[in-house]
Amino acid sequence: MSFTTIPFEILIEICDYLHPSDLYNLTMVCKRYRSLLWDKTSTTTQLIWKSSRKKFILNLNVDPPEKMSEQEFIWLMLLSNKCMFCDQTDKFELTMHWEFRMYCCFKCLNERTICKLTLLHKYNFPEELFACLSQLQKNPNPRDPPLYLMKDVENLLKQYNYEKDKKTWIKERQDKIIKLNIENEQYNTLHDQVRYDHTERLERLLRKLHDFYSNNRVY
Ligand SMILES: [Zn+2]
Repeated sequence: MSFTTIPFEILIEICDYLHPSDLYNLTMVCKRYRSLLWDKTSTTTQLIWKSSRKKFILNLNVDPPEKMSEQEFIWLMLLSNKCMFCDQTDKFELTMHWEFRMYCCFKCLNERTICKLTLLHKYNFPEELFACLSQLQKNPNPRDPPLYLMKDVENLLKQYNYEKDKKTWIKERQDKIIKLNIENEQYNTLHDQVRYDHTERLERLLRKLHDFYSNNRVY
């Protein structure tokens, strides 16, 4: 019996001894394993990843947010080692932006985002809709305009134009974003704890401070 023909029941048992990165490697062995381990709707598959996460990545003990699979969660939090849009692999060039569910480099972030001032002045974006969008404060300077994901802006405008009771819809969206902001902050902190060790966290902080003071604008 070859490794690729092992019955699923046995394979599931074997998975119980594997670290998430081994599970990921297993998905590349053959189509059969890939279809089992990449399944995002099967309860069995979700349990395999969840159990591995809890067993081997002790500080990743919080469950994924609603509508996110275990695989996607573990991938974003730990396994992905390059920008999700390009080939950048330098850890210090990459940042997790949980607000947009993106682990990417600054170049790719800039290509996909738009700042508040551009939306306001160039596109006449309705002021009340900003609170309906997830926003990212890229620079620690609170006076720096926040960024929005262009895809989110487009989707929001489509829905906004379609909605009849705009007032109620806006209120509901704003409430959802308030809750989401708290959650995003928690996941961003968790990500940094899981992915970086103490020295890396300190180095990232020092680099951030350096960028802040070297780019600081005078208002
Ligand atoms: Zn990139």
